[in-house]
Amino acid sequence: MDTPDDPFAGGVLRSAEDVTLVVEDGVIVARGDLADVTRDHPDQAVVDLRDGVLLPGLVDTHVHFPQVRAIGALGMPLLEWLERAALPEECRLASEDYAREVAREFCFGLISAGTTTALVFGSHFAGAVDTLFTEAARVGLRVTSGLVVSDRGLPAELLTTPQRAYDEAIELAKRWDGVGRSRYVVTPRFSFSASEAILDACAGVLDSMPEVLFTSHVNENPAEVAEVARLFADHDGYVDTYDRHGLLKGRSVLAHNVHATDPELAVLAERGTAVAHCPSSNSALGSGLFPLRRHLDAGVSVALGSDVGAGTGFSIFKEGLQAYFMQQLLEGDGHPLSPTQLLHLATSAGAQALGLGDRVGDLSVGKQFDAICLRPPGGTALNIGLRHASSAEEALGKIFALGGDADVADVWIGGRQVVSGGFSRAALG
Ligand SMILES: [Zn+2]
Repeated sequence: MDTPDDPFAGGVLRSAEDVTLVVEDGVIVARGDLADVTRDHPDQAVVDLRDGVLLPGLVDTHVHFPQVRAIGALGMPLLEWLERAALPEECRLASEDYAREVAREFCFGLISAGTTTALVFGSHFAGAVDTLFTEAARVGLRVTSGLVVSDRGLPAELLTTPQRAYDEAIELAKRWDGVGRSRYVVTPRFSFSASEAILDACAGVLDSMPEVLFTSHVNENPAEVAEVARLFADHDGYVDTYDRHGLLKGRSVLAHNVHATDPELAVLAERGTAVAHCPSSNSALGSGLFPLRRHLDAGVSVALGSDVGAGTGFSIFKEGLQAYFMQQLLEGDGHPLSPTQLLHLATSAGAQALGLGDRVGDLSVGKQFDAICLRPPGGTALNIGLRHASSAEEALGKIFALGGDADVADVWIGGRQVVSGGFSRAALG
């Protein structure tokens, strides 16, 4: 099952009970009936996956590398959660040995959840970001990440200067951007912790290397939004703190945007900035109900993110389900989500948000073979549900309602199988 045509614009779920893909050098080069395909490609080994459900690899458009060990600190709003749960852990990544361990846990977490592509919010420490890129390259993940920069409002050890932020970003971007599957993203943490000078330094990196991406947070929580309005009193709202500094002119993704104004949505649509919707995090921190319909009406692209530390784990299936729940609860502005729309948000919409729509996101000829095969253990509700589903769409609804890491049996990235027959630590070496 996949969603090559946008189901928010009339596209329907593409599914087949019995379809054969030919993969050469990591790329899908043919798709059709087994008999036709084997006639044209007689020397290819055949892998039979008819005991499972094959989906495109999942795409996470907002996930914090340093927060693996901070997951599960419930009961606090954003600013208190940052101070008490997230930032003390982020400080520990000053140690590269510590960061290396966390990088392994982080990449393992993504792959075991079926995530093959991610826009990763990095660390405040250049050495830690380097360990992440190194580990992602080792396991083959498609990762876009970068140095997180702040120069106020956070613990002193997480702060930098505009000049150092620029220099370290350029050095990391030159080392990793476009190398294998790695790409670089310019990442001020949020305007809350950024001076105008450091936002200008970020713009300087984008001027020097226009192919790299931009990401940050926006309009997540009312107290944060109010403080940003105070800090940037001469700006026209939170989105403008980035836009006025030229940060939204290239490929850009902003996380959350729960409390967006209509003029801000118009700016995001105009700039082509995508929004990473992180519904578990928005619920856990009490940030609010994401106005999906207003984003879609304004023409702003939306995809899913796990956020991770403030979220509840790596599973993008769970984010899809939580997005569905929240739209059900959002009176007036809610957008009911079909299983096909959830799959699109979890795969092709994410790929497009990251500028990778021509490479991944569905299982069409010409795309990289990034895929997962779900094979729920016998006796589980998902196993029973899939065996009794009367249509592909119904099966997909069950996958989002019931699916999790334990159901992800096989994972391929760029044609290389990185998980086989269920997850074990041995799979990552
Ligand atoms: Zn975040």
